[in-house]
Amino acid sequence: AALGRGGPRENLPLLVLINPHAGAGSAQTMWRNGPMSIICADAGHNVKVVVTDRANHAFELVRSHEDLCAAYKGIVTVSGDGLVYEVLQGVMQRADWARCMQTLTFGVLPGGSGNGLAKSLNDEASLAHCAESSAFLIAKGNAELLDVAAVDIYNADHPSQGMHQKVRRIYSFLSLEWAMIADIDIGSEYMRSLGALRFQIEGVKRAIFTRKYSGRISYLPCSDDESMSARTPKDLSDHEQAAGPSYWTEHADLIDDLAAESPHLNLLPEPGAPLPSHWKTAEGKFWCMWNCNVPWMTGTDLVAKDSTVADGLIQLNFLRDESPHGKMSRWKFVVFLLGLETGDHPSYCEMAPTQAYRLEPLPGLDGRNRKGIIAIDGEEIEYSALQMQNMRGFMRVYSH
Ligand code: ADP
Ligand code: MG
Repeated sequence: AALGRGGPRENLPLLVLINPHAGAGSAQTMWRNGPMSIICADAGHNVKVVVTDRANHAFELVRSHEDLCAAYKGIVTVSGDGLVYEVLQGVMQRADWARCMQTLTFGVLPGGSGNGLAKSLNDEASLAHCAESSAFLIAKGNAELLDVAAVDIYNADHPSQGMHQKVRRIYSFLSLEWAMIADIDIGSEYMRSLGALRFQIEGVKRAIFTRKYSGRISYLPCSDDESMSARTPKDLSDHEQAAGPSYWTEHADLIDDLAAESPHLNLLPEPGAPLPSHWKTAEGKFWCMWNCNVPWMTGTDLVAKDSTVADGLIQLNFLRDESPHGKMSRWKFVVFLLGLETGDHPSYCEMAPTQAYRLEPLPGLDGRNRKGIIAIDGEEIEYSALQMQNMRGFMRVYSH
């Protein structure tokens, strides 16, 4: 709503990318049954529709399309969060990424089994969560800014050897999951056709066959830790003030600068060097760790109800085997999983709103370097040490 619509770009078409294999496989039918007529016939937007024929099709198309900004006013994905992730990586690998991110607006129609961004935007607009609501937001054409985190990945083959070799940089608009919560998300992919039910079935299974992961989590605490974990709207605006201006307010000169290969980050510590003294560290055995950038991580899981889409903060959460709140148990894990629907985290779920953090998976007590799963925006990445920094309001999304 903050950015409005209009201007000479209004007549450019929207690029609509449909993943025919998302969710239960009905994204194409879903598009034709409602959103298409709302966006095209009713609201008069032109569209160019591309049905993807493989994973990474959308990524490659967006990365190599000639003058993307001049061709389209926005990009709409009809899929789950995975296709948004592909499109974001594609844009960020372009030489004109800065112009694209400031000019293109992104829309999402919930056609997958994990639709966290669509749900969060519908919820924020007080609309029922369905494809027609998302289509309505796109048809209206208003944009608002969404936080994106830059993630640096290190030493993928031997994450426990510390952080020496940077492997690559990726971008996350939604979430990072490590340990059992990633096991539940990625381990349930074969049940994609069941929609969101897949997370519940796999959650029960993992609560029975639990597994703990050794690691170290280090983060930059918010200036005032006490008020940051408070839950009222008033404190939310304090969050926003603590997080400062948007990335583009700080880097307004970037729009036509093709020399800037990637965004400028200032909070990530040098790998190998000691952490800054004001950073905090939690080390030991973890049941799970995740962060979520929007309130809803899927269409049904309200994992970060205090967050807003551009609050400048990464909502970092973890369950330790031993914490100041006592020892974890299967029972507590189930209570925690059940609470994900309402957004109520039990006290033993530790919450650390932050602007930058580092995750280092460590070998188990037996010294063995068993690999687990790390997923970004619901997509599995290499099992690695990593660190990320939030970039406030980096991405434009169609919203209320
Ligand atoms: P879901 O929520 O159902 O998992 P996603 O949008 O996350 O839906 O997409 C799932 C995966 O499908 C992503 O990894 C994406 O890269 C991949 N994908 C995209 N297009 C295709 C295609 N045509 N065939 C197979 N996989 C695809
Ligand atoms: Mg946020």
